[in-house]
Amino acid sequence: MNEFTERMVTLQWTKPRRSHDVVIIGGGGHGLATAYYLATRHGITDVAVLERGYIGSGNSGRNTTVIRANYGIPEAVRFYQRGIELYQGLEAETGRDLMHRQKGLLWMAHSEMGVRAEHARAEVNTAFGAKTEFVSPKEIQEICPQLDITGGGAWPILGASYHAEGATARHDRVVWALAEGAMRRGAHVHQRVEVTGLCRDGDRVTGVETTAGRIGAGTVLCAVGGHVTRIANMAGLRLPIRTHPLQAFVTNHYQGQFDPIVASADLLFYASQTARGEMLLGAEIDPQPSFSYRAGYPFLQNTAHRAMTLLPFLRKLRILRQWTGVCDMSPDYSPIMGFTGVDGLLISTGWGTWGFKAIPVGGEQLAELIATGQTPELIAPFALDRFARDRTLADRGSAGTH
Ligand SMILES: Cc1cc2nc3c(=O)[nH]c(=O)nc-3n(C[C@H](O)[C@H](O)[C@H](O)COP(=O)(O)OP(=O)(O)OC[C@H]3O[C@@H](n4cnc5c(N)ncnc54)[C@H](O)[C@@H]3O)c2cc1C
Repeated sequence: MNEFTERMVTLQWTKPRRSHDVVIIGGGGHGLATAYYLATRHGITDVAVLERGYIGSGNSGRNTTVIRANYGIPEAVRFYQRGIELYQGLEAETGRDLMHRQKGLLWMAHSEMGVRAEHARAEVNTAFGAKTEFVSPKEIQEICPQLDITGGGAWPILGASYHAEGATARHDRVVWALAEGAMRRGAHVHQRVEVTGLCRDGDRVTGVETTAGRIGAGTVLCAVGGHVTRIANMAGLRLPIRTHPLQAFVTNHYQGQFDPIVASADLLFYASQTARGEMLLGAEIDPQPSFSYRAGYPFLQNTAHRAMTLLPFLRKLRILRQWTGVCDMSPDYSPIMGFTGVDGLLISTGWGTWGFKAIPVGGEQLAELIATGQTPELIAPFALDRFARDRTLADRGSAGTH
C-alpha cells in the first residue's frame, strides 16, 4: 500500500479555445483517462474535454467501484487484466491516494450448472492471464465467514470462483486524479459546456457545437456514457446501444469487517464494504430502457431480499442512500471502442454496468489509437463494425452486473 500526504487536487481551469487537435465529449472516467494517456504517453496536450455537468457527474461518480478481470471470453479477460494492472500502478503514477484495495472476489454457484460455469470461468481466466480459481464451500467460509453457506435452504452455495485480484478504488478520486494529471500537462477540461451538435465538412466531423460556441477539432471522441445515442444521432449514426438505469445502495456502518467482494450470478446481486464501513450493494439493470435517474423502492426490496438470503447479517443494518446511473448497454455485453465509420469521429461506449474497471485501460488504448491512427491489438475485437461482420463478443462473465 502506498503512503500519501493528502494535498488538494489542483485543477487548472481555462477558457474554451476555438479549436483543438482532439476534442473529447464527456468528462467521465473514459474521456478523462484518454486525455490523461494522450498527455502522459504520447505528449499530445492540445486536447479539450467538454463536460456538460461536473467531471464524474455521470456513471463514473455513481458506480460501485468493482475492478475485476474474471470475464468469460479471451478478448475480455486480456483487456480487463490490463485494466487491473494499470489500476495497481495508478496511485504511484498519479501520486494520489485512490483508495485502491485488493479484496478478492467470490462469484458463487448455487446449482450444478452454476458450478460448471464457475469452473469454466476459472479455466478461461487462467488461460488468458487473470488469477481465478475454483474454491469449495469450506474455502468460501474461510474467505468470507459472513456467508450463509446453506443459502437460507433455497440457494445453497456449492462452490465459487475466487478472483484474487478483484479490487475496489474510490471512484471520484480516480476521476480527479486523471483530470489533474491531464490538466497539469496542458490538456483543457471544461465543466458546464454541453455539446449540442457536430460540425461537418462534407462527410467529415470537424468539430463540435457547444453551449460555449463552436470548437473545431482534428478528432472528436465521444465518451458520454448513457447519452451516446444522442451524440451518435447528430452524426447520423445508429448504434446497437440501449440505455437502461442501474441502481445501487449503501447501508449504515457494519461493525464487522467484510473483506471480499461477493457476487451471485443466480441471485443477481453483489456486495462489498466501503472504507467507511458501509455495505455497498448493486444488482442488475432496470429491465425497461430509460434515461431516468429516478431510484425506486422495488429495486431496494428485491435486492435487499436476495442479498439477505446469503448475508443474513444485513437484516440488522439500515439503508442509508440509494442512487441511479444510466448505462449504455451493448447487445453482447462488451464495450465498443474506436472508429465509427464517420470520418473524424471516434467512440468509447457500451460500458454498460462494467466500465469503471476499464477506465485506465480504455483511456490508454484509445489514446494510442488517436496518437497512431491504428487500432491497438488489445481493442481490435471491440470495434463497432463487429456487429456488421457478425463477430459479436457475447460475454457471460459480463452479463448481469458490475
Ligand atoms: C449504479 C452503478 C454501478 C456500477 N458499478 C460498476 C462497478 O462496480 N464496476 C464497473 O466496472 N463499472 C460499474 N458501473 C459502470 C461504470 O460506472 C460506467 O461504465 C463508467 O463509469 C462509464 O464511464 P464513462 O466515462 O464512459 O461515462 P460517464 O462517467 O457517464 O461520463 C460521461 C459524461 O459525459 C457527459 N455528457 C453527456 N452528454 C454530454 C454532452 N452532450 N456534452 C458534454 N458532456 C456530456 C455526462 O455528463 C458524463 O459526465 C456502474 C454503473 C452504475 C450506474
